[in-house]
Amino acid sequence: MPLTVQKIENGTVIDHIAYGAGSQVLQVLSSHYPISKMGALILNAPSKKFGRKDIVKIEGVFLEEMVANRISLIAPDATMNIIKGGKVVDKYHVELPSSIVGVVKCPNPKCITNLERAQTTFSQVKGGHLRCRHCERLFRPLELA
Ligand SMILES: [Zn+2]
Repeated sequence: MPLTVQKIENGTVIDHIAYGAGSQVLQVLSSHYPISKMGALILNAPSKKFGRKDIVKIEGVFLEEMVANRISLIAPDATMNIIKGGKVVDKYHVELPSSIVGVVKCPNPKCITNLERAQTTFSQVKGGHLRCRHCERLFRPLELA
């Protein structure tokens, strides 16, 4: 069956999301942007790297760095394609940032950031783990997503 790709005019195509993680990416996006109005779409597509992959397309949205950082926790291999006037004008790989400030909650319920609603800061340490600067616990990126 041929894949129908809905073309977007201006917006972002997030490619190379692991199969099944597309809905989680969409959830993050919808907490930042009114994407239900803009039309977002998940496609399951064949991928050489993953076997199958998810692609998320969002019309009218260009991601802020903070949101791209959150997406890198869920989809560390994702590629962002910036579309303007129906053409790809920019393309970049998401990267897990060396620190994430105020974007995600600490999964440790006893962490001061949860008790006092303080801003969280996570720093990347060896092995791709992230350490909470307040309770010093280590987490895998997906645990913070
Ligand atoms: Zn913490």
